[in-house]
Amino acid sequence: MLSGHVLKLMNEQIAKEFYSGWLYLQMAAYFESRNLKGFAHWLRIQSQEEACHGMIFYNHICERGAEIKLGAGAAPPSSYKSALDVFEKGLKHEYTVTASVNNIMDAAVKAKDFASQSMLKWFVDEQVEEEANFDEIRSKLELLGDKNGEGLLMFDKELSARVFALPAPLATAAP
Ligand code: MG
Repeated sequence: MLSGHVLKLMNEQIAKEFYSGWLYLQMAAYFESRNLKGFAHWLRIQSQEEACHGMIFYNHICERGAEIKLGAGAAPPSSYKSALDVFEKGLKHEYTVTASVNNIMDAAVKAKDFASQSMLKWFVDEQVEEEANFDEIRSKLELLGDKNGEGLLMFDKELSARVFALPAPLATAAP
């Protein structure tokens, strides 16, 4: 049975993952307004992924026979200075998510909750990838500069190729 501090943190993590989804959807709108559809597309897919992350925690709590408690959501910031600003803030946000996942893992280790540790291992690995993805885009934007129209358009085209893939824990789980 999932209980105590680990359960509390996992319920809070559902809200954090859905907040990430809101944040990236708001960031996508920044690019929509600049007609950079590839960047917007990449962030829309990222937003979808975040909702899936929230559902992985949701499913885990249900499967362990514990109670779901959804909290209130906050509004994400809606104004950004540049493409670089968006991805700098996205990377910073992912650092906070990593810290949060690590904190839950720490609680699961202390509680000797091995099932949660196994489930959280996927998130620990996922966060390495999330940070790397945001950092790669951030560093390329830093190289380009926000005034390099041709470079931004080429990068926009590259990002438009992203394809949504259902995260593995949802692909294999029962609905
Ligand atoms: Mg996430």
